[in-house]
Amino acid sequence: MKIPFRLLLGSLIAFSAGCAHPPATPPSEPAVTTAKASSAPAPTPLLLISIDGYRANYIDRGISPILASLAQQGVHATDGMQPSFPSLTFPNHYTLVTGLRPDHHGIVNNTMSDPALGKFSLSNRDAVSDGRWWAEGTPLWETADQHGLRTATMFWPGSEANIHGKHPDYWMPYDGNVTPQQRVDQVLAWLDLPADQRPTFLTLYFDAVDHAGHTYGPDTPQVDQALKETDAALASLVQGLQKRNLLDRINLIIVADHGMASVPANNSVMLDRIIPLNQVDVVSLGVLAGLNPAKGYDFSRIEAQLEKPQKHMTCWDKSRVPARLAYGSNPRVPQLLCLADVGWRITTTDYVSKKKGKLSLGEHGYDNQAPEMQALFVAHGPAFRQGTTVPSFPNVDVYPLMAHLLGLPAAANDGNYDAVKAMLKPDAQ
Ligand code: AMP
Ligand code: ZN
Ligand code: ZN
Repeated sequence: MKIPFRLLLGSLIAFSAGCAHPPATPPSEPAVTTAKASSAPAPTPLLLISIDGYRANYIDRGISPILASLAQQGVHATDGMQPSFPSLTFPNHYTLVTGLRPDHHGIVNNTMSDPALGKFSLSNRDAVSDGRWWAEGTPLWETADQHGLRTATMFWPGSEANIHGKHPDYWMPYDGNVTPQQRVDQVLAWLDLPADQRPTFLTLYFDAVDHAGHTYGPDTPQVDQALKETDAALASLVQGLQKRNLLDRINLIIVADHGMASVPANNSVMLDRIIPLNQVDVVSLGVLAGLNPAKGYDFSRIEAQLEKPQKHMTCWDKSRVPARLAYGSNPRVPQLLCLADVGWRITTTDYVSKKKGKLSLGEHGYDNQAPEMQALFVAHGPAFRQGTTVPSFPNVDVYPLMAHLLGLPAAANDGNYDAVKAMLKPDAQ
């Protein structure tokens, strides 16, 4: 594929082997220097890229030229890809690499609790890196490893955890201070490894678009700036691949975990004005509030109160969540769920005063059918058709597609390869 040169100029931060930001070395794990036992030739490498919070229609803003040109010359789900419910970061990233709905892989929220394991949140590094939270799913890197392929993750939720005794071969503990360019350089450095150490399945993760979307809201110059910066990182990646003559010899899947909706500062449902908060155990707040019974209080009264029609949110006992959300059977899902209407947040008077009114102006986590929650999907490479658009599909299908591309047997999953195989060239199906 040819990326128009004029698009590359100006937006590029040049890659060089001896760059100012040397690629980080994989921490914690000793560098692997021996070849894995496999005599078959390695399949075409696959790089899965996530741009956190890249809403499907951001691409129409005309400020993601590299992404748009990959989309135009590859496969593009123009109406987006449907996230799984809840449309949150950790649940959906784990869905992408397992093909399981959050209810089935156990990462049911960014914030959750488990009777045996305690509390989980994104900022709790011990929990995030504890494989027991992730053990209900089998991530693609684990299956790849079992079949002799090397894997590398330039950040991915789950990659920091020892899941079933394994990490990816190369991985990094999440650090938001690693710049997009350093992330790209690391991926290119992995692709430069000698064949017997080179990963075949890789991930790359960008978070600036999600951060700006939360802080300022999706329709702001700050999000536009983050889109431009992320596209510049993609430009650097594409140029690095071109330089290595790899751009047409690597399959790229570029996705988002969910979209982003604007939430005006005043659009808050105050939970403490509806129920006495000291009578419940609040597991999560935000777009999807989760409540468990608290010792000594009658939870059925709380449930009855909240399950009455509420302004700007809907509450269900976990057994009564609408079937299309595929949510509520996992023991980690709290007993009572309240889902905000798009454009609203569920919070408390205490939280708002602590934040001094400075609330996020963009949110996700909503109903996965909401147009604002639809996520980016672009694919490019030798296995993919060129100049093809596809209708919206659920993100559980990405996993069987990737397993097929790597020639791996898919673990049990909720996806459907047949629904997405038309995006592959006939000889790659
Ligand atoms: P949220 O928007 O609350 O769903 O969370 C998204 C945020 O999670 C991102 O913007 C990152 O700052 C953070 N994040 C992403 N990956 C990781 C990770 N592996 N460990 C901890 N935090 C992460
Ligand atoms: Zn996210
Ligand atoms: Zn987010």
